[in-house]
Amino acid sequence: MNDPRDVIARKRDGNEIAEDELEGFVRAYVRGQIPEHQAAAFLMAAFIQGLDMDETAGLTRAMIESGATLELERVSTPIVDKHSTGGVADGVTLVFVPLAASLGLAVAKLSGRGLGHTGGTLDKLESIPGLRTDLSTEAFERQVAELGCAVSAQTGDLVPADGALYALRDATATVPSIPLIAASVMAKKLAVGSNLVLLDVKSGSGAFMKTEAHARSLAETCVSLANRWGRPCRAAVTDMSQPLGEAVGNAIDVAEAVEVLSGRYRGRLRDVAVMFAGEAMSRLAGLGMGEGRAAAASALDDGRALEAFGRMVEAQGGDRRVVDDPCRVLPRAPVTEPLLADASGILAAVDAEAIGRASADLGAGRRRKGDPVDPAVGIVFRPKIADRIEAGAPVGEIHARDDDAARDAGRRVLAAVTLSGETVEPPPLVFGWFGR
Ligand code: URA
Repeated sequence: MNDPRDVIARKRDGNEIAEDELEGFVRAYVRGQIPEHQAAAFLMAAFIQGLDMDETAGLTRAMIESGATLELERVSTPIVDKHSTGGVADGVTLVFVPLAASLGLAVAKLSGRGLGHTGGTLDKLESIPGLRTDLSTEAFERQVAELGCAVSAQTGDLVPADGALYALRDATATVPSIPLIAASVMAKKLAVGSNLVLLDVKSGSGAFMKTEAHARSLAETCVSLANRWGRPCRAAVTDMSQPLGEAVGNAIDVAEAVEVLSGRYRGRLRDVAVMFAGEAMSRLAGLGMGEGRAAAASALDDGRALEAFGRMVEAQGGDRRVVDDPCRVLPRAPVTEPLLADASGILAAVDAEAIGRASADLGAGRRRKGDPVDPAVGIVFRPKIADRIEAGAPVGEIHARDDDAARDAGRRVLAAVTLSGETVEPPPLVFGWFGR
């Protein structure tokens, strides 16, 4: 390993670092041979100057090789992996995993926890009493082979460099960088065996990528990495200019997912889940796109997807009755306040990040990695852009520990909303697909 200062200085000055040199730098950092302050300086240089595709691939390779990989050889059905870059009221994974399993695909989902204003699948699932997400590698693979799906926390020996680098990025304001996010996401996807990776790259006020152009660039970078590894990958840039579903919390998101899985819910959350399941069926089961989506919609409407969810919950130690009566099984906050609109008009814009932060401050999210979350609290916000809202009419609910917290969150949600006197076009659900 050369002097780390050479690598930092060359990146600082906008020069390219050879792929193997970058790999060596990251490897040395993970082994403790490069101190945190030099790694932090490199991350800031990379954040400001960017990384090209070779450098991003070098970073990705070093992250994958920092730990074990998981081949899932015992799973005989085609495996689909799905990942969201993070959003508000983004319960797609909770729906997609059992839905794809009910269609005969296998979904081996290693998930993360919520950070900042975005929710995390593990936190949501753990609001189901008894449910465990700390499956051993052996138990995870067995459950996927037997039931077709499992959701577990990533074990510490898989891509450990990402955990260390992410914490350093979080502490040095270098998270929202396209190459750094792409390497972080794709190292975790490529370290686990699958026949197809589906990426949901969120774009808008509730996403890391606030503009469509940035989201497209992230989608393209992730797909290019998958191509280098020969892994089939499709990435959709989807709308996050408003909360996707209605529930922004943990237990309330599970209750909403049960509504979608039971076929009773109509709306954008169902539409995105059906779109990804349709894509998986068209790529892995040879169906046409329309047929794939129709198969997914049928599995929601005839109870197969909900049945698969119940089986997965039970296998992971959770209370299976959540599928029949979520309100009785899931924890409930001591205070539930209706949220009433304070003005009339057409909903023109929503600061989804502000709603995510208000929910996190109620206790549904965490400020720092490792903080506990309160499973019962959160925000339900029902209107979608282009809906008409009447002053005084209920637009949602606040689930809180006490009245003061509920009032504060309510004020923040109403301040996050922009009303217009004019007609407004609803945003598209999807801005585009990338990958072969
Ligand atoms: N999600 C990830 O897994 N990594 C990032 O860097 C950002 C979002």
